[in-house]
Order: sequence, then C-alpha cells, then structure tokens
Amino acid sequence: MQVFVTEKALKNRISFLKKKGLSIGFVPTMGALHAGHMQLIKASKRKCDITVCSVFVNPTQFNNKEDLIKYPRTIEKDKQMLKENDVDIVFFPTKEVIYPEGMDLNVDIDLEGLDELWEGEFRPGHFKGVVQVVKRLLDLVSPEYLFMGQKDFQQFTIVNMMLKKMQIDTELVVVPIHREKSGLAMSSRNVRLTVEYRRKALVLSRMLKYVKNNYSFENINSLEDYVLKQIKKEGLRPEYFKIVEGKYLKEVSSVNEDSVIAIVAAWAGKIRLIDNIIIK
Ligand code: AMP
Repeated sequence: MQVFVTEKALKNRISFLKKKGLSIGFVPTMGALHAGHMQLIKASKRKCDITVCSVFVNPTQFNNKEDLIKYPRTIEKDKQMLKENDVDIVFFPTKEVIYPEGMDLNVDIDLEGLDELWEGEFRPGHFKGVVQVVKRLLDLVSPEYLFMGQKDFQQFTIVNMMLKKMQIDTELVVVPIHREKSGLAMSSRNVRLTVEYRRKALVLSRMLKYVKNNYSFENINSLEDYVLKQIKKEGLRPEYFKIVEGKYLKEVSSVNEDSVIAIVAAWAGKIRLIDNIIIK
C-alpha cells in the first residue's frame, strides 16, 4: 500500500498507472473507517485494477463547528484497516493540499433544488462543500469509477448530477448500506453514541423496515406520522422522516413512482444520525 500526502506525488503515480492501461477505482472518505467503508473498497477492488482511497475530513461540508471538532479521527487504525483490505493507494491530504491558497475551487452548477431539501435544509451549505471536495478529489485522482454509499442517498444523487452536468468521465457506483447485526447503519459517528442511545437508535432501522413492509397497506401521510411518533417515543429527536421518489427526492403521496425510498434524520442525544431504505 502506498501512502501519498502531496498532490504531485499522487498525480505522478496515477499517471504512471494509467499509462500502463490500469483502471482506477476511487473511494473518498472522511476516515474513522468501519466495515461500511470496506464494502466500498471491496466493490472497487472487484471492478478496478487499482483502488485509491482518500481520507480527508472536509471542513467545507460541516455546517456545525462542534461536529467538525468532535468528528472522530483514527488515522493509525484507518491505515491498518486499509492495508488489511489491500488498498493500493491511500491519499491523506492536508487542508492546504485540497484547498491551496488563491485557487478558485467553487463549483457553480445548478443542483435543481436537490441541495436545499432534507439534509440541505437542516445542514445549510453542506452539499456545496460536498460537491466542492468531490470535484477537487476527482481532478486529482481522475478515476474511471467512483464508489459511494447508499447510506448518504442525497449525497450520491447530487454527486451523480454533478458528474452528468459537468460531463466528468467517471462512473458512479453506489454500494448498499452496511449495517451492524442490530440493524444500526454503520457510521463513523456511531462511536460517539452512548450505550443507551445506541440501543434507542435502533428505532430508525426498525421503522424503515416497517415502512418497507407496510407501505402498500397504509396511507403515506399516516405512515409518516406514525413513524415520527415512534422515533420520538424512543427519545430521539427526528428532523425528518419522509417517503420520497428516488430521483429528485420529492415527496410522494402514493408509491406509484418507479423508485421510492424512505429517508430519515434524527438526533440521538448529541449525535445526528441518517438512514434510508429503498422501498422499490
Ligand atoms: P464518510 O467517511 O462518512 O464521508 O463516508 C465515505 C463513504 O462511505 C460515503 O460514500 C458513504 O456513503 C459511505 N458509507 C458510510 N457509511 C456506510 C455504510 N454503513 N454502508 C455503506 N457505505 C457507507
């Protein structure tokens, strides 16, 4: 496994590998790696000759200062995990490498309102930061394939829109949500959950499953109301729970659309959790 920190070293290596005709798969992360991230690595290794993983806690996508400060950082453990999973290249850039002074890295595209809904509403500016960092990383790595998790449904939907609108020659591969045995969606933030909230948080995956099993029998609005009540009853503070169509994430009143998903965000104490399930 090769570890790079600078733009020049990374680019040199990648252009060498590309000249040899090898395909590149890219897995961007913010570190504090877990088995969910490893599913992305495995998917890349199956599809591509070379797998590149970046670890960078991107400050521009944090709307909450405390969340950025407290975001778990486990660099040595991450390196170990990436090595055990046979990653070819790890990129550990500093803030200065990603955002060099004087470089204009604004990505000015119309996200057709997708960035203002749900996560965008509760985390203003978040997706502007996501799009900015993903574009910058894609410029550095120029992969054939980009691997992202279904866990961040709105994020991959927006990144896919960016790839299309900017005609970036990279194909997005979405990897299903990896869960703990309990049903809890794996997340770097889970390590900050208290034992009690880790148990209470199970209401999210339980309710998503319930909705998948019952959407065809019940009225959508009453189903949403019921779920919100159950989440509150468990002591979590929901921000949204919605059944939406899968393309622009607009609310639906029936599940006649081609693709329908249920999305949820809730606070478990001081930790904000998101989860989703594909209904059809
Ligand atoms: P993060 O480090 O949280 O920014 O996540 C990096 C990538 O891993 C994103 O594409 C996430 O959607 C994905 N990811 C995070 N958690 C999971 C999970 N439980 N299952 C699958 N992918 C995940």
